[in-house]
Amino acid sequence: MVTEITCSSLTKSYVGDGVKTNAIKNIDIIFRKEEFSAIVGSSGSGKSTLLSLLGTLDKPSEGTVLYDSHDIMKKRKKEIADFRFNEIGFIFQQFHLLPTLTALENVMTPLFSRKVPYNKQKRATEVLAQVGLEDKLNSLPSQLSGGQQQRVAIARAIVHKPSWLLADEPTGNLDTETGELVLELLRNLKQEVGCGLIIVTHDPELAAKADRVITMKDGLIVSDKIGAGV
Ligand code: ADP
Ligand code: MG
Repeated sequence: MVTEITCSSLTKSYVGDGVKTNAIKNIDIIFRKEEFSAIVGSSGSGKSTLLSLLGTLDKPSEGTVLYDSHDIMKKRKKEIADFRFNEIGFIFQQFHLLPTLTALENVMTPLFSRKVPYNKQKRATEVLAQVGLEDKLNSLPSQLSGGQQQRVAIARAIVHKPSWLLADEPTGNLDTETGELVLELLRNLKQEVGCGLIIVTHDPELAAKADRVITMKDGLIVSDKIGAGV
């Protein structure tokens, strides 16, 4: 179980049409599992790039992301995938639910083709109850509201018991009130499950509810505030 994610001299560049963009520039930062961190900054500042790197979805161009001192990205694809399954749960702005599957089946998808020491359907039912959807197990995404769909996506992100929950604009497709409820749910889950929580948002009001607020600008971290009154 990973307790710290350490980024050292982390750089990510993209090359397109012969032009090189440095999405992340030489970042040094440590994320700790006990914290609820929010990454804020305007569009294009590198927030999603950083979250992808933290979640092993992407490889650094330079520098490292260490998980309790392990350089996972140096390992083989299969080991990286196993690590991601064991440690990381993702939530996205677009809920990315499969439209022909029920809520229960959607939540079970990360467990398909995996060996786990628990009953898959029972576990999926349990996490759907944890997000308040025990009466929607057999609903299709089209039969659910946006907030309910994001709850299904959150249940899917925690079904495999990851130690970190990474959310990219999780409230971006929701109205303000529903967004606040989803954020509250994430906060509560963090407490209940004891996982690390890092959310990307461009909404300063939502970010103000985090323990730590990291502000990015042009691929750099321009402020990092911990504690009350951030
Ligand atoms: P944010 O999430 O803060 O809006 P991103 O991390 O998505 O920012 O993007 C940071 C910069 O990197 C932007 O200039 C963006 O255009 C560029 N970028 C992101 N992903 C890619 C990609 N796959 N290919 C090329 N450029 C990219
Ligand atoms: Mg983004």
